[in-house]
Amino acid sequence: MLPVPGKPAYGRRMDVEVAVVGAGLMGAATGYALGRRGTRTALFEARAPGHRAGSSHGSARIFRRVYPDPLYVELAGRARVLWQALEDAAGETLITPTGGIDHGADRDPVRLAAILRAAGVRAEVLTAQDAGSRWPGFVFDGPVLFHPEAGVLDPDRAIAAMLRLAGIRWYPDTAVLAVEPDADGVLLRLPDRTVRAGTAVIAAGAWLPRLLDGVVDLPRLTVTEQRVFHFPRRDPAARWPTFMHDEGKTMMYGLPAGRDGGPDGAVKVGAHFVGPQVSADTRTGVVDEETRQLVTGYVREWLPGLEPVPHNETTCLYTATDTEDFILDRVGPLVVCSTCSGHGAKFAPLIGELAADLCAGQADRVPSRFRLAR
Ligand SMILES: Cc1cc2nc3c(=O)[nH]c(=O)nc-3n(C[C@H](O)[C@H](O)[C@H](O)COP(=O)(O)OP(=O)(O)OC[C@H]3O[C@@H](n4cnc5c(N)ncnc54)[C@H](O)[C@@H]3O)c2cc1C
Repeated sequence: MLPVPGKPAYGRRMDVEVAVVGAGLMGAATGYALGRRGTRTALFEARAPGHRAGSSHGSARIFRRVYPDPLYVELAGRARVLWQALEDAAGETLITPTGGIDHGADRDPVRLAAILRAAGVRAEVLTAQDAGSRWPGFVFDGPVLFHPEAGVLDPDRAIAAMLRLAGIRWYPDTAVLAVEPDADGVLLRLPDRTVRAGTAVIAAGAWLPRLLDGVVDLPRLTVTEQRVFHFPRRDPAARWPTFMHDEGKTMMYGLPAGRDGGPDGAVKVGAHFVGPQVSADTRTGVVDEETRQLVTGYVREWLPGLEPVPHNETTCLYTATDTEDFILDRVGPLVVCSTCSGHGAKFAPLIGELAADLCAGQADRVPSRFRLAR
């Protein structure tokens, strides 16, 4: 359950140090980081708490440190420390450890293991036969990387915890219609009032291009509607790791789905970057038969531990840059936070800290790769 926010305690005009737009994982994390620093902050979210129209809803995202790029291995390690601190502050588990596996020729498990070990992260490479004995619900046809630090993070609970603990004012059902930078900072136009802020963090997910159109030059952002499916386990007691599997056609991923999977703990399975190009306004929420067949066929062939008929299915938006690197940068009084590209959730508390650093003028703390100019 998301916390119930306070009543809007302002009239027609409101002054804050920082305004945050969007209460998905990134906006909530930014509000949390700013609140802990004592920054007078107001956060505006267009929709109701817990809505499912963006990218952060539900009970399951993969936390992993496995990346072919050492930058993300390091950032995920820093994020993990912050997740732990958030869990301690919230008194609840937000990442359930499951371990994670990577396999398939295009995933290159042996190379990934070397990258992890070079960063001091535990990694084990198993033969297909040994992996098959350890995880009988899978089919393997080559080496398998096991990464014990991986787990399943719970975005709904994480957002609720961050908003509950942030100590900032936040306003659901309050859309920001326009942001207008000027010599004094930035003016935010709401339906019935204006907000004057020194800095505004725009963490508006798939809506970000619309809000910043004509205000900031953005690199290309492609929004796609992704479909995910929850498949029942044949053996409800079987333990499932998170997984990434790439044979060169489509990268498939999966993870225990938590509450989204229903009482019997179904496993969420998806095809990475398979979905129509849409905008936040034109997405349909419809699960198409072609993707259903693709994912069901995959489960039938590679995941014999699951019933190949989904228990339920849903959609979610990816907002991606061409390189899948994040955008986190400041232009005058605006901090642009577009950190999805289908893999941002695991970094959320770190993104919040870095966005707060940008608000404080500490641009040097943010990886240069995340700059707008690329
Ligand atoms: C299917 C799927 C699977 C994923 N799997 C993983 C995974 O396994 N591991 C991982 O690390 N990451 C994963 N991700 C990525 C991760 O979920 C995203 O990086 C993250 O949720 C992005 O959060 P966000 O806050 O940027 O966007 P959002 O969650 O979309 O939040 C943006 C918010 O801004 C609000 N908003 C928009 N416009 C306005 C406005 N004008 N005024 C006020 N509010 C506004 C919206 O209502 C919304 O609530 C996955 C994403 C999807 C879709």
